Amino acid sequence: MTKSLSLLAACTLAHGAVPGRCAWCGAELPKRRRTWCSDRCGDAFWANHWWSVARRTVRRRDRYRCKRCGHKPPGRTHPRYRTLRKTDRLEVNHIVPARGDHRRLSCAHHLENLETLCLTCHKAYTKEQRA
Ligand SMILES: [Zn+2]
Ligand SMILES: [Zn+2]
Ligand SMILES: [Zn+2]
Repeated sequence: MTKSLSLLAACTLAHGAVPGRCAWCGAELPKRRRTWCSDRCGDAFWANHWWSVARRTVRRRDRYRCKRCGHKPPGRTHPRYRTLRKTDRLEVNHIVPARGDHRRLSCAHHLENLETLCLTCHKAYTKEQRA
């Protein structure tokens, strides 16, 4: 919790760690609530800071299509899904690179910094970034 408190203080999306206030939206905390005024605020925090939740949220937001070329790889129900996904799948790209922050809470995972890309577009983007 202490880690996320310092993160909340620096986060541009969160209201911040103010006693008695929701750390996400700043509303007054109801009794028995300690950090978030509602589950929705807690969920919003995790969706913007924890990689596995953020990744899932972004894929859904982008309707399981590549943001750049609109490509939609075969879904799980496709009979050859397991084979096809090796070369044809969606990945979630950090527009401003996360620099190894994937395993911890980080503001690099703000949903506005994430986009769903197909493998081809993701590779092209990474190449552009390096150039
Ligand atoms: Zn709230
Ligand atoms: Zn694409
Ligand atoms: Zn943040």
